[in-house]
This record gives sequence, structure tokens and C-alpha cells, in this order.
Amino acid sequence: MKILDGNTLSQQIRNEIKEQVAQYVAQGNRKPHLAAILVGENPASKAYVGMKIKDCEEVGFKSTLFKKEESITEDELMKLIQELNEDNNLDGFIVQLPLPRHIDEDKILLAIDPIKDVDGFHPTNFGRMAQGLETFIPATPFGIMRMLERFDVPTAGKHCVVIGRSNIVGRPMSILMSQKGGHANSTVTICHSGTQDLNKYTKDADIIIAALGQPYFLTADMVKEGVTIIDVGINRIDADNKKGFKLVGDVDYESVKDKSAYITPVPGGVGPMTRAMLLENTLLAYKRFFLQEEK
Ligand code: NDP
Repeated sequence: MKILDGNTLSQQIRNEIKEQVAQYVAQGNRKPHLAAILVGENPASKAYVGMKIKDCEEVGFKSTLFKKEESITEDELMKLIQELNEDNNLDGFIVQLPLPRHIDEDKILLAIDPIKDVDGFHPTNFGRMAQGLETFIPATPFGIMRMLERFDVPTAGKHCVVIGRSNIVGRPMSILMSQKGGHANSTVTICHSGTQDLNKYTKDADIIIAALGQPYFLTADMVKEGVTIIDVGINRIDADNKKGFKLVGDVDYESVKDKSAYITPVPGGVGPMTRAMLLENTLLAYKRFFLQEEK
């Protein structure tokens, strides 16, 4: 069994990005610049944005945080997005989700200029991804693809079962794993809450990507020997520690690990890769539109 260590790999990737940034800056260019819009006081959102800003500092990016009150109106938020779309000193920006209920998330995400949509959530970028064109791939699926490639996990011709069909994880994952090019070329089954006899699919799978948001859902009796397990889940469960909770995945790691050829831990697997890919997408935006290096 090999553990796919997302902490170590994401550190390597951040080091590589840092080196590239240092070279660009040494050549007299400005730093890549990422902005984040954070609305309200959701503790998890604040923590995520805080980590993203810390990551930017580490690799030498400029970052700007637009912290807005929970009471901000949709029109005010749309106006801010318009300003950021037009700001030539900004390579990309993200709107941290979830937004307060009175704001239509889809409308907000659609307002982001696709060329600055480093989260890759805009339908234009999603469509480009689906057609295998150069684009911003949503950070979690991008991080998983990078992980499979860098650890040289066999994927071609394998049966990959994705559990979950959300627009940010499951569905893009299923598309990327089925692509002909790159480190993919799997035969993909996508499962969801309407799937009947899920075990039938998971037991046949060479690769399982669990992204359903149910703690310890995937157990040893549901998988075959030699399976590759990618655990996307981040679930908060009560724990007898100072915080009163701990984070666990969608996979019952302890029981499944002995049957696995490769497995990602939680924490320390997909999560840190997701963070690193936001940096990669920002660097890509910078190269494309500031340096005009890429398509
Ligand atoms: P969503 O809730 O948007 O989607 C969950 C999907 O799982 C849905 O398609 C749902 O089916 C399916 N599902 C739920 N229960 C079952 C079940 N019992 N059997 C089969 N399918 C089921 O979640 P996300 O995709 O946003 O996130 C999934 C998990 O990944 C969460 O734990 C989240 O915290 C985590 N996550 C982790 C990230 C990271 O960086 N590591 C990043 C993003 C998310 P249906 O469509 O029918 O409702």
C-alpha cells in the first residue's frame, strides 16, 4: 500500500511555483496577483480564505482580500466583481462559497470574467474542460489529476468509479478521468444518491474517487484488493479533543487501506493539493494575460 501524500507533493509544487515567480520578478515583472472576496463570518470560509492568502505569501504572489459584511446586497457584490474583472493589475479572483442566502450564487459566478475565474467554476471554463481545451480546471479535480500523474498511479484502461456528481468535484472528475489525453484514459462510472446497488460498482472499481460528504462511507467490504482510493471528503465529526471535532474523509481509511494499492489520507491528501492548484491556476492566468506566454 502506498500513501499518496498530498502534503509533501503540494509543498514540492509550491516550491516550483515560488521558483518561477522569483524568476519572473527578477526579470522586472510584477508579481502574480490573486484576490478573494469573503462575505460574512462563516468560520470555515474565513479559515479557507486565510489559508489561501498564506499560500500566496509563501510563493511570492500578491494577494488582496475583499472582506464584506453579511448584509452586502447582490448589486453591490456584482459591482465589486465588475471592478475586479476590469482591474488589469489582478490576474484572478475567487468568491468564497457559500454566499448568504439573499445572494444568487449562480448569478455571481456567471458574472466573473472567465479569464479571471481561477476557481474554474464558470460554465465557459467548465465547457472548455469538458472538450479538453486549455482552461482553469476546478482546483480539487485538478489536484487529484496532478496527484495521480506525479505518483504515476496507473489509470489508462482502468475502471474508475466516482461517487458524487457535484459541479465542483464529482462531475468534473468523471470528465477528466475519461479524457483520452494526459494521465487519464479510464473507463468511468459516475455514482450518486440515485445509484442502485452501489457496491456492484465499487467492488469492480480499480480506482474509486469518493466525493459524497458522508463520513467513513466507503468500507473494506465495498472494494476489491489492489484498488486505488482517492478520498475527497472533509467531514467534521465530534471528537474528544481541544477543538471538540476532527476532520475525517468519506472513506473508512483504517479498514480500506490494507486492500489498497494507493490511498489518500484525510487530512493530508486531496485537501493540500486543492490549495496548491488554486496557485497553479493563478500562475496560469498571469502567464496568459499578463505575460502573454500561453494561449
Ligand atoms: P455535494 O454535497 O455537492 O455532492 C455530494 C454528491 O454525493 C452528490 O452528487 C450526491 O448525490 C452524492 N451522494 C450523497 N450521498 C450519497 C450516497 N449515500 N451514495 C451515493 N452518492 C451520494 O458535495 P461536494 O461535491 O461539494 O463535496 C463532497 C465532499 O468533498 C464533501 O465532504 C466536501 O467537504 C468535500 N470537499 C473536499 C474538498 C477538498 O479540497 N478535499 C473540496 C471540495 C469538497 P445527488 O447528486 O444525487 O444528491
